[in-house]
Amino acid sequence: MSDMILKVEHLTKEFKVHKSGGVSGSAGGSHALVRAVNDVSFSVAEGETFGIVGESGCGKSTTGRLILRLIDPTSGRIEFRGTDMTHLSGEALRGMRRKIQMVFQDPYASLNPRMNVAGNVGEPLEIHRLVSSKAERDEKVKELLATVGLNPDYYVRFPFEFSGGQRQRIGIARALSLSPELVIADEPVSALDVSLQAQIINLLQDLKAKKNLTYIFIAHDLGVVKHISDRIAVMYLGKIAEIADKREIFARPLHPYTQALFSSIPIPNPAKRRLRAPLGGDVPSPLAPPPGCLFHTRCSRVMDRCRVEVPALREVAPGHQVACHLY
Ligand code: SF4
Repeated sequence: MSDMILKVEHLTKEFKVHKSGGVSGSAGGSHALVRAVNDVSFSVAEGETFGIVGESGCGKSTTGRLILRLIDPTSGRIEFRGTDMTHLSGEALRGMRRKIQMVFQDPYASLNPRMNVAGNVGEPLEIHRLVSSKAERDEKVKELLATVGLNPDYYVRFPFEFSGGQRQRIGIARALSLSPELVIADEPVSALDVSLQAQIINLLQDLKAKKNLTYIFIAHDLGVVKHISDRIAVMYLGKIAEIADKREIFARPLHPYTQALFSSIPIPNPAKRRLRAPLGGDVPSPLAPPPGCLFHTRCSRVMDRCRVEVPALREVAPGHQVACHLY
């Protein structure tokens, strides 16, 4: 791996919510603070695919949206290519956003149903004034469609005329329109059936090689993340539980939560089954997270100190970090 393209340091995002659960937008009523992302730090090297995995509500998607500055962090720092972009605004932020694009989970929701493919895929080109006419935009859109394996002549069609897999290809074409350097793919295949998942993952891998892209690949499915990632971060209730190289984390998962997540993937080798510790109980409410280690209410190896002391994320082997009092 070469230089770090992205550094995230102590990133934290708190949302004010009604105690009934919804995000608060108005004054009055009873409110609480939910820490959706809690002191998260990691770096992504140029050209790598950094997987972020965890159950629904663990903060992985919020982390992606913070990096893109779709939402503002409560605290912490985001550095892209050596530039602190945590507090950028206006033209400086727009310029940085050209280099970081997102592929969303639900391609249908991320496309404007009233615009044809040329309008959807070409919109970023128009916003950033990279085309001077509709004809030029349409030519660029046709090239992008061919790049993602779609018939260029489809540029006049509307999103409803496509299948789920084709729509995700359109979403990827839109993300690529500004020639980004970093693509954040947020559950890009979880709405698709298994055969389409493989096609989209293969497409993403091809595009990465052809266009020298760096990916952050967010998913709840460890099997999907394993296929595409170079390194993997496991998140639980807004915090990173473990980060390691893909081979290392699959060969030697250390955090009891990572081990439990792995128990949901079929492992043919009986020698590795001893690592399995099935995940019991539910994720605690983020409105009332447990003290100490956030995982202690579900951990089969919980100790007294786990209930009071937050474990720091520590490097226990080169490149292998884990937040657990066992190490
Ligand atoms: Fe389990 Fe304690 Fe480690 Fe948390 S710190 S994962 S409760 S052993």
